Amino acid sequence: MTTDWYRDDILVGGKWRPVRRTHQVVSPATGWPVGRAAKADRADVDAAVRAAGDALPEWRATSPRVRAEGLTALHAELTACRDELTACIVAELGAPVRLAREAHVDMALDVLAGFIPIAEELAEPTKAGSSLVFAQAAGVAACITPWNYPLYQLIAKVGAALAAGCSVVAKPAELTPLSAYLLADAVLAAGMPDGVLNLVPGSGTEVGAALVGHRGVAAVSFTGSTAVGRQIGRSAGEALQRMSLELGGKSASVVLDDADLPSAVAATVDSACYNSGQTCSAWTRLLVPRPRYEEALHLAAQRAGELIVGDPADEATDLGPLVSVGQRETVAGFVDRAVDGGARLVCGGSDRPAGLDSGHYYLPTVLADVGTADEISREEVFGPVLVVLAHDGDDDAVRVANDSDYGLAGAVWSGDESRALKVAARLETGQVDLNGAAFNPVAPFGGWKSSGVGRELGRHGVHEFCEFTSVQI
Ligand code: NAP
Ligand code: MG
Repeated sequence: MTTDWYRDDILVGGKWRPVRRTHQVVSPATGWPVGRAAKADRADVDAAVRAAGDALPEWRATSPRVRAEGLTALHAELTACRDELTACIVAELGAPVRLAREAHVDMALDVLAGFIPIAEELAEPTKAGSSLVFAQAAGVAACITPWNYPLYQLIAKVGAALAAGCSVVAKPAELTPLSAYLLADAVLAAGMPDGVLNLVPGSGTEVGAALVGHRGVAAVSFTGSTAVGRQIGRSAGEALQRMSLELGGKSASVVLDDADLPSAVAATVDSACYNSGQTCSAWTRLLVPRPRYEEALHLAAQRAGELIVGDPADEATDLGPLVSVGQRETVAGFVDRAVDGGARLVCGGSDRPAGLDSGHYYLPTVLADVGTADEISREEVFGPVLVVLAHDGDDDAVRVANDSDYGLAGAVWSGDESRALKVAARLETGQVDLNGAAFNPVAPFGGWKSSGVGRELGRHGVHEFCEFTSVQI
């Protein structure tokens, strides 16, 4: 299928309706228009919430096995348009095509597949002692997503909500709404009932803010910045809506003294630069044994130099541009302030990569000689920027890793798995990968501290959209 990327409509109750205002979508690589999206308003939000409310009783009462069949059909529809979804994410985000295919589209499909058995599982109550515990859909869910993984983030919410039996109103990021249209088209093509997914593209301050605290919305699921997450938490708390907040991170990759340093450093540089550094779970603090600090810097610079920055359409490219001129300014600001404050620029920095005069490109950047209290060691940069810190053994490494307002992800590297596991268990963070273990699309994902509230993916993700009723017998 080739769908129109120039849209002026919102999806309400299973019907596309045009709206008056639209928003142009431009390529971060070229600045050229690649599509258009509706710019919905508060009245559109009211209509979408009403349509979701109308669809709720029947969808909630549908057998979980039938809902699982619906998700299976949706998975098949999305799989059939994998190439178009990939092209769309290259266009709207500037993600390199290889990454768009594997990390954006295939990963989203894996996450969706992970919800199918969980939907089936909800058919039967569980037991708690002598009680039966029934899981029920919480109600209408508002799903508000950022631009960094536009399809993945939406599917992580919409898939879980539909599995639970919630109906959904989705608000994608204004910078990257095109893949959300393709998802909505696929939901219709899969034959899902009218009104179980409603799509209202528009701005966060207008559409997003109208959804949070809305009387017709029972659950809010948000991914984005910690600053907006706090605001949403306040409004949702006032309305006593269920909330799930996936926010920022400043995750530590902890290398113990018996680890294979070259592979640990290379994988950490890759993580920090993945999706041009626009990844909430990126390892952006590398903690290495003090005696091997200079060696680690050398290895990091070497790996950073191997990464190819350039045209996202090229299969060889590792890093495309940042999403916007504003995002590039933000990243450059963090790096320039760090260097002005005495940090050592090991590689990268704010000069434009050679030969890339247009597009918001930023080179893989490694900074050394920074303190744990410095802004660059504490704040989420959301660009390809890694800081390298020294530690004095396992206890000190745990202390430095946990010395953060965030706690989303992390890594531990050691030649001894039981030692790595002991360190991992002491980290105040939602996810830890030992020795480069792969991402698991059904393991609970979410943050401690300022990284958020709640968990996504798999069973934990579906339960965020459920209410539970215990029946004593
Ligand atoms: P954001 O401002 O937090 O926005 C995320 C989503 O929330 C977008 O759909 C946004 O709409 C919407 N939104 C904004 N203000 C809102 C409000 N008051 N009420 C309800 N919804 C609202 O994130 P961003 O603009 O995409 O990126 C800004 C920074 O956030 C980045 O530089 C990065 O540091 C961080 N970030 C973190 C993650 C993560 O996964 N942890 C992801 C993306 C960004 P608009 O599209 O209209 O803004
Ligand atoms: Mg914003």
